[in-house]
Amino acid sequence: MAEAKPGWKSLPPGGIIVEPGSSLKYKTGTWRVVRPVINQDKCVRCRLCWLYCPDAAILETDEEYVDSKGRRWNRTYIINYDYCKGCGICAAECPVKAIDMVPEHQ
Ligand code: SF4
Ligand code: SF4
Repeated sequence: MAEAKPGWKSLPPGGIIVEPGSSLKYKTGTWRVVRPVINQDKCVRCRLCWLYCPDAAILETDEEYVDSKGRRWNRTYIINYDYCKGCGICAAECPVKAIDMVPEHQ
């Protein structure tokens, strides 16, 4: 005898978030073919990449950084590669071109 399949009435309605915060479980970083890499020496800590990233995949940390010119910065931006999809918006918006998009296999 054939196994009974669930009917359409047993499917959850679409477009409804039944579990708040569940998107954290979906690590979209595997979609990426190119990855953004921040050159911490070029970065002027303007925060634009953090602001524009559609996936909130750029994190602002309070980690200190001293660049090659001796400038001391009291925050550092890092990429959360678990969620970065490699769209390149951060690299396009960075005013000092401190973000390079490099092939994922490198
Ligand atoms: S490449 Fe796209 S998803 Fe990844 S950090 Fe930059 S803006 Fe965000
Ligand atoms: S947009 Fe560029 S300069 Fe500004 S914080 Fe991001 S990496 Fe640094």
